[in-house]
Amino acid sequence: MRTITIAIDGYSSTGKSTVARQLADWLDYLYVDSGAMYRAVTLFALRKGLISETDFNKEALIETLSAIELEFRKNSEGKSEIHLNGENVEKQIRTLEVSEHVSPVATVPEVRRKLVKLQHAIGENKGVVMDGRDIGTVVFPNAELKIFMNASAKVRAQRRYEELLERGDSITFQEVLDNVTERDHIDTHREDSPLVKAKDAIEIDNTETNIEDQFHIILQLAKDRIAGRI
Ligand code: C5P
Repeated sequence: MRTITIAIDGYSSTGKSTVARQLADWLDYLYVDSGAMYRAVTLFALRKGLISETDFNKEALIETLSAIELEFRKNSEGKSEIHLNGENVEKQIRTLEVSEHVSPVATVPEVRRKLVKLQHAIGENKGVVMDGRDIGTVVFPNAELKIFMNASAKVRAQRRYEELLERGDSITFQEVLDNVTERDHIDTHREDSPLVKAKDAIEIDNTETNIEDQFHIILQLAKDRIAGRI
């Protein structure tokens, strides 16, 4: 049976990572959350004081990029978690503060170059499910299966809001909706690797579908590609 590369791109909070993770588990492939990498760089910049409410010191971040080492390690339950310079930051990268600053950081070409290099290295042997914004267009343009996920902004914000509440964050629905909308805008309008559906990607809108249900549709697509049926 052949081993393939699966790229899952789409707007913020469309459930990409849930589907990608399930798919990777089912196929015994590697799951790579490329958004976690951009979030970890953002956390690094926040901790170094390179980002404030009013200012983002891009040049200083570019200068210190070589001091950032990222790695995915599996936890005791087999779940892949991101480590920033040896520290597990999986939880710290999911805050609204990081979400509010990550898209400007992801516009910086030097940041993208560094992370894409790492993504290529992780995925070089195929057998990988990677989710993000530019995986099917820039990182793995030859991926055998490309999915592009979408849903209405309100539905996406509601799902994200419930997730954050469950984690114990004190936050309003409006804050989450504003963040989702703003990130979409920056991600689709940036110059370097904007979020766009690859020509050969299959679009899946889950505004009205349960995220679990759509897993079976995507799994079938993956099985067909692996078997060379489509
Ligand atoms: O996937 P997630 O929502 O965690 O990604 C956080 C942010 O990282 C996105 O809003 C986007 O700005 C950036 N990103 C990117 N390219 C990727 C993955 C994420 O620019 N491949």
